[in-house]
Amino acid sequence: MAIATINPTNGVVEQEFEAIDAAEVERRLALAQSTFEQLKSTSFAQRGEWLVKAAEILEAEVEDTALMLVREMGKTIVQARGEVLKSAKGLRFYAEHVQTFLADEWLEDPSAVGAKQAGARYQPLGAVLAVMPWNYPIWQALRFAAPALAAGNVGLLKHASNVPQTALYLDTLFSRAGFPAGAFQTLLIGSREVKAVIEDWRVKAVTLTGSEPAGRSVAATAGEQIKKTVLELGGSDPFLVLPSANLEAAAEAAVRARLLNNGQSCIAGKRFIVHTDVYDKFAELFATGMANAVMGDPMDPKTVIGPLATESGRDEVADLVKDAVAKGAKVLTGGVVPDQPGWWYPPTVLADLPEDALLVMEEAFGPVASLYRAKDTNDAIRIANQTRFGLSSAVWTNDSAEEQLCIERLDAGAVFVNGITASYPELPFGGVKASGYGRELAEVGMREFTNLKTVWKA
Ligand code: NAP
Repeated sequence: MAIATINPTNGVVEQEFEAIDAAEVERRLALAQSTFEQLKSTSFAQRGEWLVKAAEILEAEVEDTALMLVREMGKTIVQARGEVLKSAKGLRFYAEHVQTFLADEWLEDPSAVGAKQAGARYQPLGAVLAVMPWNYPIWQALRFAAPALAAGNVGLLKHASNVPQTALYLDTLFSRAGFPAGAFQTLLIGSREVKAVIEDWRVKAVTLTGSEPAGRSVAATAGEQIKKTVLELGGSDPFLVLPSANLEAAAEAAVRARLLNNGQSCIAGKRFIVHTDVYDKFAELFATGMANAVMGDPMDPKTVIGPLATESGRDEVADLVKDAVAKGAKVLTGGVVPDQPGWWYPPTVLADLPEDALLVMEEAFGPVASLYRAKDTNDAIRIANQTRFGLSSAVWTNDSAEEQLCIERLDAGAVFVNGITASYPELPFGGVKASGYGRELAEVGMREFTNLKTVWKA
């Protein structure tokens, strides 16, 4: 894949970039290692100060940075600003909490293990490689970087090839904030070069956010090298609507959930599983809401949905819909690629999907929703759990027994009740099954890339 900014609204190549060569990769790895030796002995307070400075830079540059996201991946300007400011909040969160999250943990009664003092200390690992996707190009990278750097690691970023300007912006963000020069570096390389970087002795761990095949490939290399991985992969999140739900609120939220980020969010509701008693009413409200969502210029604040980020992504979504329709699915709205330049796809709702439609099992990474009719709550949970993914889930109900059943039985990394899934610095984030393993965010996310060293003193 060429490393280039291609404007998704019209398909025009705006700027192409040369990948760095092996000698430059080596120079950056060497710098990462020497910087780690220096960074690991700085204090939590010092690193926290630098993170706050990075947050201030992001806040001060929100307009230009948001514009860059619009140009590189078609996010609406309103959501792009939101992403930049949320990222600043994430930096501040880790600056504020690093001392408590990584404080030494001493046993209250060390005599239980025959010691005068015993417990554990969190220490950084070294250089951590982050392979990141284009859909939240700032937030995804920084929700890795903030806890990793706060803990004293150094970061290497292999960003998606279609967001090179964002990748280069992030390359200098932390040094501008005061961190030593090699604390966070972008490697402008293609995905084929990732294997050699993981194999390098200076890289101690890898985190990948992206598709299942990319996760499989990175985890295989890291596994051979016995290096830790965190994988945040795809999702085909269920959105359950049960009879006691407020249907108007559920339908409005369903539209937001499906269209967030132009339909390209791993945690978007993708499969809408509705109890038969309320199916017809919900389907009508939802399809109407999707049909009314304004698709257009991402720079217009009224726009709800802009273009998809890449031509191949748009084609994949269109192919999934074609496959479902050819096999008998009913189109309630959308489903036709507009005849215009750029990578557009309209909000689409499909119903009556046959079991062999690819959409039943595959992730639709675009504004395409599939509707399923459930016989009862147990059936809704069965349908929800029948994919190989398990990222997040949402349930709309006002019945506490149903709510408990869903919280208990949904096979997913998260359950949101009467809301839509979102990521928060305060809450753990991650999946089960083919959606990956490990957690980002919260305290647990910061500890993923640390050595929990047991200390025992006679
Ligand atoms: P992708 O193709 O897997 O790309 C993600 C990153 O992985 C890019 O930097 C890409 O580089 C790199 N990559 C691709 N193949 C690789 C390989 N074999 N070895 C090493 N690196 C490789 O994903 P995408 O289609 O752009 O992004 C959408 C996917 O990401 C969806 O499945 C979505 O659900 C998932 N996602 C998950 C989360 C989460 O937190 N769970 C969040 C956001 C997105 P190139 O660009 O150079 O190919």
